[in-house]
Amino acid sequence: MVINIPFIDLQTQYERLKPQIAAGIDRVLHHGAYVMGPEIAELESRLSDYCNVKHAITCSSGTDALLLGLMAWDVGPGDAVFTTPFTFFATAEAIALLGATPVFVDIDSRTFNIDPDRLEEAVQRVKQSGDLNPRGILPVNLFGLPADYREIDRIAKEHALFVLEDAAQSFGAKYGNQASCSLGEISATSFFPAKPLGCYGDGGAVFTDDDALAEKILSLRIHGMGQNKYDNVRIGLNARMDSIQAAVLLAKLEIFDDELGKRRRLAGVYDQCLKDLVETPYIPGGMSSAWAQFSVLSDHREAMIEAIEEQGIPVQVYYRVPCHLSKAFAHLGYKPGDLPVTEEVSLRIFSLPMHPYLDFRVATKITSILHNVLLRISGEAWRAKMSMRETVSNAGKAGYPIP
Ligand SMILES: *Cc1c(COP(=O)(O)O)cnc(C)c1O
Repeated sequence: MVINIPFIDLQTQYERLKPQIAAGIDRVLHHGAYVMGPEIAELESRLSDYCNVKHAITCSSGTDALLLGLMAWDVGPGDAVFTTPFTFFATAEAIALLGATPVFVDIDSRTFNIDPDRLEEAVQRVKQSGDLNPRGILPVNLFGLPADYREIDRIAKEHALFVLEDAAQSFGAKYGNQASCSLGEISATSFFPAKPLGCYGDGGAVFTDDDALAEKILSLRIHGMGQNKYDNVRIGLNARMDSIQAAVLLAKLEIFDDELGKRRRLAGVYDQCLKDLVETPYIPGGMSSAWAQFSVLSDHREAMIEAIEEQGIPVQVYYRVPCHLSKAFAHLGYKPGDLPVTEEVSLRIFSLPMHPYLDFRVATKITSILHNVLLRISGEAWRAKMSMRETVSNAGKAGYPIP
């Protein structure tokens, strides 16, 4: 039985919220303030409450949220920003777009997030070489799991570095009792449709408790405005969120906690079913993931992906090419082998369908597919071993030394 399901099911969510979303969009069409309408202030106030951060500033995308954060600290040429190579390209791209240099730091093999020990070494190395000015750390909460902020903050403090949290995948996650989007001096999230909280287009938000940084971000978001849009006091961006997207997010935020619970339950089912067949996600004590993805590791990735996809269940690989080996960063001179943990993970990882409306039948189906793949592979390995023995023993009979 082939199931044929989408990797992320936004249709079922739309059916659930249809009247609320239609009413929200209709309101915008009626009042006509398509840009910076009342929905923006309302959403910003909800987001600030939800994450318990003083300032939530909506913007045009997660990438622009990262840019706004970096620009608020005047990051530019000659600056080093320490980040993970195991992320969506936008993280490192934002650094490079401002002329600064991303310094890639290897990841922890279990959390897939930046490894604090390697981070400490990288900061020391950059300081000693004196080529770049170490400015900040840009950790990513990959697949929805917060990075190790206690250690990151300690290193940041010791070396006077800023911390910009890339929370594009982790809206809704917790680090102790702190919400993701409150874990950096500035935090950036994305409301791209496929993220845990997504709108119907591009969108993002920047968060900070710091009044001065917030004021600067508000200015940068609208062409570096001062008293008004035509009083330009710095070089900025056009990085506003549309009122219609804010209306969509206001409706979706109402059911977000319920959806998060459903993701968490699915992750539990996946974990129970699959933990003997593949390496399932590790969640350190005190943390909770937003479950943007459910990613597993196996030495038999390609065979598993092929078998799962044959049954109509889509699979994704995040990420086949780590940023330090991407063409765009070839000029930085990284070589294969430079960041071994990242490179090994990128060869073994794949992600299963994860969304709040997934039928638990799928988890059981995937389990039986993976089980069969492993049986087949171990059978093949066994047969290979046997035929090897035969060769060796025949060799022995022929008078060759047996190894
Ligand atoms: C999606 C994503 C971004 C970029 O967000 P956009 O809204 O697509 O611009 C940045 N960082 C990470 C880790 C992401 O997953």
